[in-house]
Parts: sequence; C-alpha cells; structure tokens
Amino acid sequence: MEGPSHKVLVFKVGPAIPAEKRAPRARRSHRVRTHPIFWGVDWVGSLTPVEPAAAGGLPDPRGPADPWTALTAEIESCRRCPLGVSRTHAVVYRGSRTPTVVFVGEAPGRKEDEVGRPFVGRSGVRLDRAIAQVGLAEPEFGVLNVLKCRPPDNRFDRAAAATCRPYLDRQLDLLAPRALVTLGAHALRAVDPSAPPVLQTAGRPRAVGSRVLFPLIHPAAAMRSKRLAGRWDADVRALGAWLAPRAF
Ligand code: SF4
Repeated sequence: MEGPSHKVLVFKVGPAIPAEKRAPRARRSHRVRTHPIFWGVDWVGSLTPVEPAAAGGLPDPRGPADPWTALTAEIESCRRCPLGVSRTHAVVYRGSRTPTVVFVGEAPGRKEDEVGRPFVGRSGVRLDRAIAQVGLAEPEFGVLNVLKCRPPDNRFDRAAAATCRPYLDRQLDLLAPRALVTLGAHALRAVDPSAPPVLQTAGRPRAVGSRVLFPLIHPAAAMRSKRLAGRWDADVRALGAWLAPRAF
C-alpha cells in the first residue's frame, strides 16, 4: 500500500513590492493569509515557486557566509592552543574591511579580552591618537593582533603565536592592505622574522615580500619611559610624513 506523498515547495524571494502597489489587507488572498507558513508574517515580498531540484535542495535561509565572516567565526570558536581555554573573548579585528594600512599588535590585553576588540585600553587610546595624527580616516585602516587570545600573564607566547599564525595570514590575504604598521618587537618579528631589533628599524619603511612594512615600538612601551615616549612621538611623525603622499 502506498503511503501519502509529500511535496516540498521552495520559493525564491523577488524584489520588494512598493507599499503603494500592495493589495489592501482586506483583499489579500485568503490562502496566503491562512497558510501556516505565513502565520506571524505581515508581508513576505513577491514569491515565485521553483522546483526543489532546480534550487539544489533547501537553501540556507541565511545565505552563504562571506570568507571574512566565516574566518571570524572560525577564530572566535578556535581552541587550537591553550589560550583558547583561558580567554574570555577571541579578539579578531576592528576597522575597515578594505584598509590601506593595517596596524599589527602583539596580543590582546585584559581590557581587549573583556570586550573582544583590539587596542581598546590605554595603549589603544595612544594608538588611536597616533592614527588621527597621521591623517588616516576610518575607511583607511584596521587594527589586529598576531595572537587572537590573551596570554594569561600578558607574556607573548611564541608557541601559541606559531599555531595562530595562519589566521593572521588569512586575515591579511582577505584585507589586502598596501602597508602594515607593526607595533612592538613581537609583531615585527612575526611579520618580518629577519628584521633587526625594533629600536633599529622603527620609524622607517621596509619592504617585506609584496608589502611595505613600517615598524613602530609598542604604544605601551611609550608609556614606560620618557625616552621611549619621545621615540614613539618621533616615529609617529615619520609615519605621518611617509603616509601623506600615499606613495607606497
Ligand atoms: S590564540 Fe589563536 S590558535 Fe590559540 S586558541 Fe586563540 S585563535 Fe586559536
């Protein structure tokens, strides 16, 4: 004996019908208003039935994730190294999705771990002041770290950084900035392992593969001594002069 046959209907959503062209509520189709699929829905746009086979099965109603959103979700759920267990939030990125310049820090601190955004503490205030000083507008820059999760004692964890490194490469591939500004010795070494120590390289552009790198000392270091504060200020001025013609 044959059982009941089931038919699956798949709809594709057409362009929205302007309000003035919609039928008055009282004259809308009784079938549409009473079918269970439309309960709680005031208006769903114009619907055109299509064959399930042509639709390739039932589609994901959220649509496919773009590569950046998928990468962000992957990082936020990552547990590939022990820092993934101790963190509060993975700290992925803040800024433009089409930046000209990306600032690369070392690792999230306590405040960043709390809120899930890079450079939001005292170092971030100093960094944001420098970014404004060099004349970068919001669509032109982004900020991220080599390590996406906070080391509990704020010590840069090289083993974790090696595990985490593919995320940095994938982020930079998708963002495709023309220049990188590293913040501190660990970020410099992560981007350019053959670079001399940061105090020798900070304040001058250097080529790394197809990108240009402009190293700075870490803004937190500039808060530790007057000498390093002076160095930070001088290097930020040099960065501004280098960026001004956007000739890189
Ligand atoms: S630091 Fe990087 S590799 Fe380690 S858990 Fe966080 S995202 Fe994953």
